[in-house]
Amino acid sequence: MFRPTPQGPLTRIRMASTFLGRPVYAVSAYAFADLLIDTGPPQRAAQLVEWCRGSAVRRVVLTHHHEDHVGGAAALQEELGLPVLAPATAVPILAEGLRMPLYRRAVWRTPRRFRAEPLGETVEGEGYRLRVIPTPGHAFTHVCLFDEERRWLFSGDLYVHERVRYLRRIESVREHIASLRRVLALEPELLICDHAGILESAQERLAAKIRWWEELGGQARELRDRGLSEDAIARRLLGREGLLVWFSLGDFSQKNLIRALLADAPGSSGSPESPLSGHDGHELFHL
Ligand SMILES: [Zn+2]
Repeated sequence: MFRPTPQGPLTRIRMASTFLGRPVYAVSAYAFADLLIDTGPPQRAAQLVEWCRGSAVRRVVLTHHHEDHVGGAAALQEELGLPVLAPATAVPILAEGLRMPLYRRAVWRTPRRFRAEPLGETVEGEGYRLRVIPTPGHAFTHVCLFDEERRWLFSGDLYVHERVRYLRRIESVREHIASLRRVLALEPELLICDHAGILESAQERLAAKIRWWEELGGQARELRDRGLSEDAIARRLLGREGLLVWFSLGDFSQKNLIRALLADAPGSSGSPESPLSGHDGHELFHL
């Protein structure tokens, strides 16, 4: 699937990979002025290059290093000569090439390596000025882009859904909530999300997401104090695990969310080490 939809001065480009012949897990990139913000999965790179060829896009900005956001960047750089800007922490990962668990390689394919330039504090061009806001949690490299004048927030994967029920092992809920608060304080009006699309009432939505995780965390702590295991708490509060947990070999699960909420509680010793990380602190995969 490759579906560009103009919405005023923005164009949302929805893309999905196909897995076993079916479209799976759509993700969006956005064209705005001379910018393309994120680039979809590697499987759609050729279509994205063709679309950009006839567009006003002259620069690419990436919100984080994940393969469903950086997949078209190498081709856009090589074939159209477009400069690519990425969060400074993502630049070495993108230059080295992503190391991904098999289930993610199967869905998205592995993006080709490329050299990105590190983002500074702003991205400016004719008629726009975007502030680069560090927003770790979903990924340690994650940034949002904020247009102060229009009060638009390009939020990458920071929002995704109000009630996210699954978490990857590596994600930190505490950092993620702090990032949500940081962008909420900017008082955005439009939320431009790589999964949920272009959403009004940005502040209400961000506040609702914070509330959902905080309330869930409170309930999880209460059940833990009553002696329930993480598995039992996850089942009680979120129901049965779906297929995603099997497909991702446990990388995505409801239990990870409960564990992260409990680990991030005041007085705890922090998140447990990810089984997908090496023991010497060297990451086996770029999560
Ligand atoms: Zn992501």
